[in-house]
Amino acid sequence: MLSEFELIARYFSRPPAPDSRTALGVGDDCALMTPAPGMQLAISSDMLVCGRHFLPDADPFTLGHKCLAVNLSDLAAMGAQPIAFTLALALPEARADWLEPFSRGMLALADAHGCELIGGDTTKGPLTISITIFGEVPPQQALRRDAARAGDDLWVSGTLGDARLALAAYRQECSLNAEELALAAPRMHAPTPRVALGLALRGIAHAAIDISDGLAGDLGHLLQRSHVGATLDVDALPAGAALQQRDLHLRRRFTLSGGDDYELCFSAPVRQRDAVYKAAQAAGTAVTRVGSIDAAPGLRLLDASGEALQETPDSFDHFRS
Ligand code: ADP
Ligand code: MG
Repeated sequence: MLSEFELIARYFSRPPAPDSRTALGVGDDCALMTPAPGMQLAISSDMLVCGRHFLPDADPFTLGHKCLAVNLSDLAAMGAQPIAFTLALALPEARADWLEPFSRGMLALADAHGCELIGGDTTKGPLTISITIFGEVPPQQALRRDAARAGDDLWVSGTLGDARLALAAYRQECSLNAEELALAAPRMHAPTPRVALGLALRGIAHAAIDISDGLAGDLGHLLQRSHVGATLDVDALPAGAALQQRDLHLRRRFTLSGGDDYELCFSAPVRQRDAVYKAAQAAGTAVTRVGSIDAAPGLRLLDASGEALQETPDSFDHFRS
């Protein structure tokens, strides 16, 4: 069995990158970072608990990826450039065959975003993975939740609902064939944080949030913080590749109230439509216009013919745990 210090040295400490903002990384009482002059720090934490957010037999490589991905997604939703993160780990036992792929999955994604692991804490306990992530954003350019304005277009990135569809298959709420599962499962296990899109939307979008708990709920947070409402064209919501093949009711339910999508929902002035499409193209992420921000509070759902849907977002929610 590895000691705490052996496992930190072996799996979680690496020499600093050449262009690093980290003056001192893993190994001392604190890490030291030198933020770029004039930048604001964007800071966020996300914790994943075994049995709540993932199953005990989850593949450690993709779990390592996902833990960091959900944190990167928060920076993306703020329009912040990732720079560093800390990792607090509670482990039932120090097993090399779990720690090795876990750290590899996590650090591969970290390297892809130039985001350094600069410290953390390690203890024995029920498997819990808690990350605090640091990013940089120029003052006034963060994509805050409270900045949506009446008249803005409402957009979402990528596609929605496939992660929830995969979960439904695991829970045996519906059955997927091998091909559908191959499309949907990666959306649940290995989400792609939309960091490049968040950065490209600086100065273009007004407000943004990342969709982790279902579009309707997360959009609700943005609307509340901005003191506005919205009209959502439910049948314009981009369904995932597997969900697209399902009936209208399931499509509506999982695009609206799925969960684990890690796409961005954002508002932008109408005059910025072209700029949004250009930003999306530069970032290599599709975007879809799905509605608009209203002065009147509340969320109004329309179908493809512009008729109001009778269902409330909550009524799509009954399979949530
Ligand atoms: P302290 O006693 O100050 O809490 P520790 O002995 O827990 O320090 O940790 C020693 C060093 O290893 C510190 O620099 C800490 O940031 C780092 N560290 C501990 N656990 C992790 C981890 N899971 N990932 C990365 N760095 C870690
Ligand atoms: Mg410690």
